[in-house]
Amino acid sequence: MKTVVFDFDGTLTVKSSDIWKSIFIELGYDVKDESGDYKMQMKDFFNNKITYQEWCDQTCKSYTDKKFSKQILYKLADKIKLLNGFDKTIKTLVDNNIELHIVSGNFVEVIKYVLGDKAKYFKTINASRMVFDDNDLLTKIVGTEYDFDGKAKFITEYCQKNKVNPSEVCFVGNGDNDEWAYEAGCKTICVNPENTDHTNLKVWNKTLHCLKNLEDILPEIL
Ligand SMILES: [Mg+2]
Repeated sequence: MKTVVFDFDGTLTVKSSDIWKSIFIELGYDVKDESGDYKMQMKDFFNNKITYQEWCDQTCKSYTDKKFSKQILYKLADKIKLLNGFDKTIKTLVDNNIELHIVSGNFVEVIKYVLGDKAKYFKTINASRMVFDDNDLLTKIVGTEYDFDGKAKFITEYCQKNKVNPSEVCFVGNGDNDEWAYEAGCKTICVNPENTDHTNLKVWNKTLHCLKNLEDILPEIL
């Protein structure tokens, strides 16, 4: 393998609640209310009534209505923990000249906060972005173009740009928003599957259940 593309949540981290949802909850929204902001926005996106960016814009409005700030974001980010064996795994891959990327539905700000100085091991970190004003209050969410089917788009664009064969790329993910990655023609590994049919061998070439230590993915890549 020349390149490994990682999902972030539940793949590099211990299973935790989706950050978008966690923010809604933290701000006092009822995420189970079918006519509430959280459920309505999600339904509209999945029913193709709104685009990903419109979904981000509506979510941003729900957040800013409750004065969502950078401080609240980092408080929630503090709860996200990297999987055991993260350091050794990443170092081993880098030492083997394998290029690493993250393609996530989370926020760049959160991923960088959780990774700290370990962010340097990743050539790119692709996710949505939050824009804050001088008082650290949220003003805009810039949606990533690389979530859902965008994950395959990232890998395809990457391969074309860098003259890498997709068969030399491995994607590691865990959830339903990762199910498009295989379409790029890369190898796919599912770890700690969540909301995804890991028995679908077309989508997931290999599944590692109950992965407690990230080092266990190394034999599948090296
Ligand atoms: Mg995930």
